[in-house]
Amino acid sequence: MNPIEDLRKLLEVPSQKIVIVAHINPDGDAVGSSLAWREALTGMGKDHRVTCVVPNKYPYFLDWMTGIESLTIFKGDETGIARRAIEEADLIFFLDFNSVARLEELGELLVSNTRAKRILIDHHLSPAEGFDVVFSDPKASSTSFLVYDIIEKLWGVGVITRTIAESLYVGMMTDTGNFSFSYLTPELYRSVAVLAETGIDIPAIHNSVYNGYTVGRARLFGYAINRKMEILHNGTVAYMSLLEGEMRRYQFQPGDSEGFVNYPLTIKTMKFSAIFIEHRKFIRISLRSRGEVDVDLFARKYFEGGGHHNAAGGKSFKTMDETIAYFKTSLAEFIAEGHL
Ligand code: 5GP
Ligand code: MN
Repeated sequence: MNPIEDLRKLLEVPSQKIVIVAHINPDGDAVGSSLAWREALTGMGKDHRVTCVVPNKYPYFLDWMTGIESLTIFKGDETGIARRAIEEADLIFFLDFNSVARLEELGELLVSNTRAKRILIDHHLSPAEGFDVVFSDPKASSTSFLVYDIIEKLWGVGVITRTIAESLYVGMMTDTGNFSFSYLTPELYRSVAVLAETGIDIPAIHNSVYNGYTVGRARLFGYAINRKMEILHNGTVAYMSLLEGEMRRYQFQPGDSEGFVNYPLTIKTMKFSAIFIEHRKFIRISLRSRGEVDVDLFARKYFEGGGHHNAAGGKSFKTMDETIAYFKTSLAEFIAEGHL
């Protein structure tokens, strides 16, 4: 059957307990789509109780978003709200990711501690099996756009309030790099027009998200580009690395390294950019590319990750030096196979 009709049927039962969960290191799209979907579900007049759960803290440049303080942050949650909500849930929505493997410890709860129907709404490549209803479209520029599309099909755009519009706009804007990446379809711009009609203040949203950083972040960025960016393969590949000690020097907060990996792609010859960021248990890798170069493939093949064709991520459990050495040999193989 068609997933919209399946979903409509699932939502018809009144007074359900619903959980919305988004991916680890939740970004503008994960948070925006979750907040919007929650408001749409609570506003549909069926008395649903909706809990939004994120695996860990969202970046501080999203602090201003309406309703964000009510997200349940699983990591360090002493109250057990997330655990109980998952145990009791009738429906669980998985937003902006497509495999519980991306949730770390929270993922285990979502497999073993629930009898809920599971609904996927996501735009990443290679979705996992095991969902009851699937909205998966790798050609959608953001999960927020998918949520918009689902709202339109279920209830019509008339139910989109100004706060729903603001949340969806944040997701669309951040995941498309300000409407500059792939999949900028006429439908996307039509949806933006509908959001604009609710009266959202687009320059203010832009300002809140992109001009809300600290001095430390600006200086860390300068340091990363000036001192830590290495260029390989005739100016076609760049990588940067940041150790915990280096980040501490600049009062690092989660979210501060957001966007760093994009910057080398402002160099005309550049096709592939990577950043390695040291965390307590592992090194997180972010990858970006231009055009044909497939970083989803690279992330899956070499770094236990994935994502999109031009933006992907993964992890390494080696030291930074070993990770970089492994990156270089992987890259040489990737190039030898004609992928770059
Ligand atoms: P970012 O570099 O901004 O963290 O992630 C880029 C894209 O790749 C995002 O869409 C993100 O969801 C996805 N991604 C990041 N890390 C992973 C990972 O470890 N596994 C998978 N499957 N996707 C990832
Ligand atoms: Mn997304």
